[in-house]
Amino acid sequence: MTFELERRVGIESVLKACRLCETVRASLLSDETIGKDDGSPVTVADFGAQAVVSYHLAATFPDDPLVAEEDSHLLCQGENAWLKEVVTNHVKRISPDLVDHEILDAIDRGSGEGGPSGRFWTLDPIDGTKGFLRGGQYAVALALVEDGLVVLGVLGCPNLPLDSSGPNGHRGCLFVAVRGEGSAMQGFKDSVGQRIEVKKLIHPSQALFCESVESSHSSHDHSARIAQVLGIDKPPVRMDSQCKYGIVARGDATIYLRLPTRESYMETIWDHAAGSIIVEQAGGKVTDMDGKPLDFSLGRRLTKNRGIVVTNGELHEPVLRAVQGRIQNLG
Ligand code: AMP
Ligand code: MG
Repeated sequence: MTFELERRVGIESVLKACRLCETVRASLLSDETIGKDDGSPVTVADFGAQAVVSYHLAATFPDDPLVAEEDSHLLCQGENAWLKEVVTNHVKRISPDLVDHEILDAIDRGSGEGGPSGRFWTLDPIDGTKGFLRGGQYAVALALVEDGLVVLGVLGCPNLPLDSSGPNGHRGCLFVAVRGEGSAMQGFKDSVGQRIEVKKLIHPSQALFCESVESSHSSHDHSARIAQVLGIDKPPVRMDSQCKYGIVARGDATIYLRLPTRESYMETIWDHAAGSIIVEQAGGKVTDMDGKPLDFSLGRRLTKNRGIVVTNGELHEPVLRAVQGRIQNLG
């Protein structure tokens, strides 16, 4: 097995961060003074999760850069001293030996630039912040990129049911993929994963597709038109975060469309690195709307890609044709 140490440390880091996020979310549910419009719980969990993953990775891989979403700038402003204290307290519950400046340093290790050569990790400490706040889906997404290629993905989905046919059963799914070695899923308490594969389906009309809950992140109008062209009459599954990649990888859904709502938006690498390798290693295919592979070698954003099309592989060509045929004028 390749990347064995990276895989083990990646899994441990993501599980620790998921624990922190779930603790913060529990306080959100129980503390009536925190409103859903109050950005602080998600801010606390975002910073806390980044600190935990970054610190844990650096302990084993001190020379590996990290490309992650947050920096400690906001926490260092005098008026946010209270926020810094809440964040550091949460982190210390997970990693009791850490002192404040180590926590801030760990967050700031996420300022890596990425690029075409060497290796780096990329992290979205909480992907799907809206889902986190509304009690829906969110994910901690970590990937290792080597010479521009994603080689390892670890996706923690604390609120995703393990069994889609039993939505009220156990929640907490960890998806793990290593390039060339397939994808697996396990519960948070399991020590080994079960192999997962995309659903085999050659008629697009039978597909279930998924997309963002937020219509500002992916055009619902365009996807509805594409579904119509493909003869799909089942309504889309709307879900926040890279959990969408997870449900395609394990065969619950067969298509995930992310269709730009404005020309100028460029996707970030941490929003797709972990999810895309998990789908590809489960037998699926991930490209942009033009059919090009996602290019993770260009820095913090996917500057050469627009939109994202994810399928079980067999459906990729017909879905791409439908996407390209219907979307003439995005703006
Ligand atoms: P989702 O939960 O799939 O809707 O995706 C959440 C991610 O969407 C966040 O992590 C943001 O980085 C990203 N995002 C923010 N604005 C946009 C936008 N205009 N288009 C696409 N993605 C966006
Ligand atoms: Mg994100």
